[in-house]
Amino acid sequence: MEKYDLIIIGGGTSGAYLAERMAKRGHSVLVAEKLPEEKVGAKYDIFHIEEKEFGRLEIPRPVKGDPAWAFEFTKNYNADPLNKFPKCQMNPIVGLHMREYTLLLLHRAEEAGAEIRCGCEFLDFTYDAAGKISGVKVVENGAETEIPARMVADCSGMAAVGRTKLPADYGVETDKLTDEDMFYVILRYVKLRQPEDYLDGSTFWAYYKAWIAPCADPAGAIIGLGACHSFDYAEKVFAELEKTVPLPPHDVIRVEKGRTPYTKNCDSMVADRFFVSGDAGNLTKSVNGEGVTSSMVQIGLAVDTLDRALRLGNTTRRYLWEINVKYNRTQGAEFAMLRALLVGVVNAAGFDEFQYAFESGIISDALLNAMNGSSIPMGAILNAAGNFMKGMATKKIRMSTVKAAGAALKNAVDISNHYKNFPDTPEGYAAWKQKADAIYRSIGKIR
Ligand SMILES: Cc1cc2nc3c(=O)[nH]c(=O)nc-3n(C[C@H](O)[C@H](O)[C@H](O)COP(=O)(O)OP(=O)(O)OC[C@H]3O[C@@H](n4cnc5c(N)ncnc54)[C@H](O)[C@@H]3O)c2cc1C
Repeated sequence: MEKYDLIIIGGGTSGAYLAERMAKRGHSVLVAEKLPEEKVGAKYDIFHIEEKEFGRLEIPRPVKGDPAWAFEFTKNYNADPLNKFPKCQMNPIVGLHMREYTLLLLHRAEEAGAEIRCGCEFLDFTYDAAGKISGVKVVENGAETEIPARMVADCSGMAAVGRTKLPADYGVETDKLTDEDMFYVILRYVKLRQPEDYLDGSTFWAYYKAWIAPCADPAGAIIGLGACHSFDYAEKVFAELEKTVPLPPHDVIRVEKGRTPYTKNCDSMVADRFFVSGDAGNLTKSVNGEGVTSSMVQIGLAVDTLDRALRLGNTTRRYLWEINVKYNRTQGAEFAMLRALLVGVVNAAGFDEFQYAFESGIISDALLNAMNGSSIPMGAILNAAGNFMKGMATKKIRMSTVKAAGAALKNAVDISNHYKNFPDTPEGYAAWKQKADAIYRSIGKIR
């Protein structure tokens, strides 16, 4: 049986992207996808990609008329819990059909030379006499077979079927996600009853972690909400939202439910002959749980190392370690910082304080633009600080919230610096991880 350079478990967007990048470098790549072709990428319909990401990640940019294209918009509003003081950022977003876009990426991987096998389910790893991964055991057409490989990548999504099957001391975190580590997302595809309500952009209500956004039908919208714990809890939050936010009159056409990791990324994403990416490595954005492009960023950082490792025949954890270093010191540090800030502020601030923050200008367009990578002008910082002080003086902001915000800021700085100091070699990892875990305990989980 052919021995592949790389077997990728899972043919979602992460697996397809990794397959294309590695096949382009001349490696023999097999994508083992458990679903039959007609179900690939069909877990939900619409997802978003920021326009600027297509060029940066060198991924196809569908346009109107293409099967994967659904709609696009530029205005992104962030609003208070009463929806009275929305702030607007201009950031072009493209709405895409998940199934069609996944198939497009898989097709590109195939064109680059990767082999895609649908209906091929990963069961377990095979190991050599030294206890190192030597391939995978799969079931295909009802028959179990073993396929040898020089490396295996887990891109199996939230289930992380490969990573969580590895021995606990293999070199990566092997724990499964709990209900507190994921967002339960409910999407209501609706038809708006009044033409004057048709959307010119999306609105996000941070207090509820909810949004309304355009969909493929110009007379329609997607009302979404993400919450930890359970779908039932997400429904309860939605009921609260409906009491304060005047949603436009609408009829629900269909409802989709899904889950996405909402926790820190795996700190080590490599082990001997092993790499993890995508939702399987919890690589989603800490702001909103989106994970398509953030995983591609990690893959982009990893490909040179994976390529070199395979060429040199050195696929040890030690050799692959630089992938951890490159990721954790950049996007990893940024996401960790934002997570600490968000968890601290969202957990502490009450309804009235959120309302005051929008009304007074503590939350401003400049601050929100900074979340999209722009720098914050000094005037905006001073303005926010002034309004914050005024809020304290007039008791619009509670002392306990001030303390919690201060602690969140400290945690954000600490965790960001800690990721930027991610150890150069595996030797420093145990001590680094111990400290990271201690900071994460202080950060806590989002409510
Ligand atoms: C409702 C909702 C809306 C979202 N919206 C956005 C958005 O707008 N933008 C964004 O960037 N992100 C969004 N996300 C998050 C995004 O969907 C994920 O981060 C992303 O799809 C993860 O891609 P992946 O390839 O890592 O995993 P997946 O897409 O889950 O792919 C994993 C693949 O592995 C396969 N697999 C699983 N087990 C096995 C096995 N044993 N053997 C072989 N194959 C296996 C699965 O069948 C699947 O095809 C959203 C999530 C939800 C739930």
